[in-house]
Amino acid sequence: MRRSHHERFGGAGRIFSAPARVNLIGEHTDYTGGLVMPMAIGFRTVAAISPRSDGRAVFYSDNYGEEVCFETTALERSPRGHWSDYAAGVLWSLRQEGIAVAGFSMSLAGDVPLGAGLSSSASVEVAAAMAMLSLADAELPLKTVATLCRRAENEYVGAKSGIMDQFVVAGAVAHRAMLLDTRALEFELLPLPEEVRVVIANSMVKHAVATGEYGDRRDEVEAGQAVLRRERGTELLRDASVADLEACRNRMSEASFLRCRHIITENARVVEARAALLDGYVKRFGELMVEAHASMRDDFAASAPEVDALVEIALRQAGCLGARITGGGFGGCTVNVVAADQAESFVAAVRREYAREMKIEADCFICAPSDGALALAKKGGAA
Ligand code: ADP
Ligand code: MG
Repeated sequence: MRRSHHERFGGAGRIFSAPARVNLIGEHTDYTGGLVMPMAIGFRTVAAISPRSDGRAVFYSDNYGEEVCFETTALERSPRGHWSDYAAGVLWSLRQEGIAVAGFSMSLAGDVPLGAGLSSSASVEVAAAMAMLSLADAELPLKTVATLCRRAENEYVGAKSGIMDQFVVAGAVAHRAMLLDTRALEFELLPLPEEVRVVIANSMVKHAVATGEYGDRRDEVEAGQAVLRRERGTELLRDASVADLEACRNRMSEASFLRCRHIITENARVVEARAALLDGYVKRFGELMVEAHASMRDDFAASAPEVDALVEIALRQAGCLGARITGGGFGGCTVNVVAADQAESFVAAVRREYAREMKIEADCFICAPSDGALALAKKGGAA
């Protein structure tokens, strides 16, 4: 990365990197103040940055083989539906934060599968933010880094994502899952039992987050949340119970009722999942994942036939304790908790059976909880 940045831009680049993430449980709860339990994983986006004197911000993505140029002094909010929106959005968002970044060249390269629900978007945002902050000689706390990257994605790119991705990608710690309270922005680091592995299986079916159904779900959720606020005085869905929701059922659309029921029950599952981890009760953790999948599929209507097949295949395998869809939905990846000594055979069997049933080759990864971008930078660890 250092060499290719130098060859392209002629400067010695400073290197920063940010991981991808997988969400163990707590799906679609992060934009109504709820609870999530993600961890960072070993895929990375690397950003190399060096100053330039012409006042321009030039981005090169190795993944796209393309270079894009902006004037740092005249950066308006002008998304173009292009990969560079994510990095330019961070530059714009830093400005909102009162941090002006002088001209620079930035190279980006990542091994995060794009659009697969492992949050390559937060990975590229946080890597770019770390690089720009270093050039501006500024340091910001985790909450601010996460919030400004989320603002880039929400307000510049135009994707209505919650805070989970940016927060865990920036703030994760190796060997730990992160229980994040998305209202307080407070977190707890939780150990995963030694005897299990986290396996990600990619259905290879792509979802569209910035547009379409993800946005429909958010509108349905927000409409339901507004009814509860008015009728029950609950500020956020986080504060509501299933009984509150039942009491308002005939005041909202059936879709809003079901989406809100998913979120309310999912928050309760995350609380129970935390207890299960702290008790070392991994079997219960797995059962909660299975319940979470059913809720995403039936109440939130955000699964896909391929993903449902992948979950069913996983649950048939020896050593599989739990499996569910992860990420925004409508395709993407599943996350599985599997006995450590059966993880390899699990991967082989899932790939074989998914290929037989769906005629698709699934990419599978056995993942360990990794450091986030701040911990990586502190360790001087670029790669
Ligand atoms: P996900 O976050 O699940 O991977 P998104 O649709 O939210 O999917 O974000 C994917 C987008 O992020 C890509 O289409 C691209 O625009 C941008 N992106 C991610 N990684 C890179 C990269 N290394 N270089 C340039 N753009 C990237
Ligand atoms: Mg994303």
